[in-house]
Amino acid sequence: MMSLDTSTLYLVATMIAALLGFMLLFFSYQENISALKWWGTAYLLGAASVALWTVAGSMLGEMLSLALNAVGFLTCGMVWNASRLFHGRKLNLPGLVLGALAWVAAAITLPAEPSAMRLTLGAAIVAIYAALTANELWNERRRTLQRRWPAVAVPVLHGFVLMLPILLGDLLHPHDRTFAGSIWVTVFAIELVLYTVGTVFLIFMLVSERAVAVHKNAASVDPLTGMLNRRGFSEACARVIERESSAGRPVTALIFDIDHFKSINDRFGHPAGDEILKLFSAVVINSLRISDLSGRIGGEEFAALLPCPLDEGVIVAERVREAFEASGIVCDEGPVDTTVSIGVAGGPAGTELEVLLAAADTALYQAKRCGRNRVEAAEELPLSLENWRRKTAGSARAPQPLQGVARLA
Ligand code: GH3
Ligand code: MG
Ligand code: MG
Repeated sequence: MMSLDTSTLYLVATMIAALLGFMLLFFSYQENISALKWWGTAYLLGAASVALWTVAGSMLGEMLSLALNAVGFLTCGMVWNASRLFHGRKLNLPGLVLGALAWVAAAITLPAEPSAMRLTLGAAIVAIYAALTANELWNERRRTLQRRWPAVAVPVLHGFVLMLPILLGDLLHPHDRTFAGSIWVTVFAIELVLYTVGTVFLIFMLVSERAVAVHKNAASVDPLTGMLNRRGFSEACARVIERESSAGRPVTALIFDIDHFKSINDRFGHPAGDEILKLFSAVVINSLRISDLSGRIGGEEFAALLPCPLDEGVIVAERVREAFEASGIVCDEGPVDTTVSIGVAGGPAGTELEVLLAAADTALYQAKRCGRNRVEAAEELPLSLENWRRKTAGSARAPQPLQGVARLA
């Protein structure tokens, strides 16, 4: 077998851990991610204790080496807590120190010989922390529902590799101390390097995935109401329409336009207008089902997509109209009329959002013309975008629905 100098291996592992610890700390301060501060500190502490152990292990007294081991278990607890912090859970301080305390308690009470018992306990503590970390990362990954296995495989493998020699050593070679001493110490050192590097890689994968998700969310959400903006709404609608289409179910679109909103702004001020927008968004969200989509697609224009036929959509629209009217509020300057006009259009399975919205827009125009504060349903269903384009190409009303399409792009 190739002979590897274990002290050198541990030294290399230590230096890599220290370097990664510094990088994590640097990155954590730059990006202000507190989980990475814990993670980086754990790596530095771990590196320092292993380095001290490797360089001066034999010269250390009983108490000092006990303390060094305790620090090692503390770093496992810190890594676990870092993974908790990473997805918004609280620090678990008892859990953080429990491993180290259990080790110290065992070292005081258990006899020093045979060492297998202590060794098994130590590996078990590390394996438990590895399993807890894997569990946190598993929960974290549940949200994205893809590729969660790497985040779990690394800590689980780590725990397994640690437990394996203990189990094998105890079962197969209960009296052969040199067996455990020679091969596994080398394997540990190599595994330590792989684990240290592998975890950091995972952390950065999770951090970058989260950053992408945050930006994506910001790009598709309206900050005033918290609803989807036009872009987010049409992206979400595309997915729902595809899903409903493959099930052969119809879809219905609603467009809401608050009545005389300009005069609300003029009389009560822009901030009051903003409050009315928030109020309306709450009314919409409360009136819809969880499977319905809604968004703010313009200044005081909102839209919804419902996986149901037109007549059901009209009932929902009526519910929203009534609820908004009933929520009328009174300012110092007098009562604010809160009414909304709604256009509804339904289509067979697979109708494009653009077509539905264009038809709903026409119905909305009708509702405004008929006196506002009412629901109008589109009379005919445009069957496809192609047909609709062909039909409107020569017509004089073409520019109005076309705007609706252009805004979607
Ligand atoms: P109609 O009944 O015909 O819909 O009349 P309207 O006054 O609601 O119609 P119009 O589309 O002309 O006016 C919309 C107004 O909405 C104009 C704009 O100042 C206001 N608005 C757009 N976005 C916001 C916003 O974010 N906050 C506030 N407070 N007002 C907004
Ligand atoms: Mg408008
Ligand atoms: Mg309006």
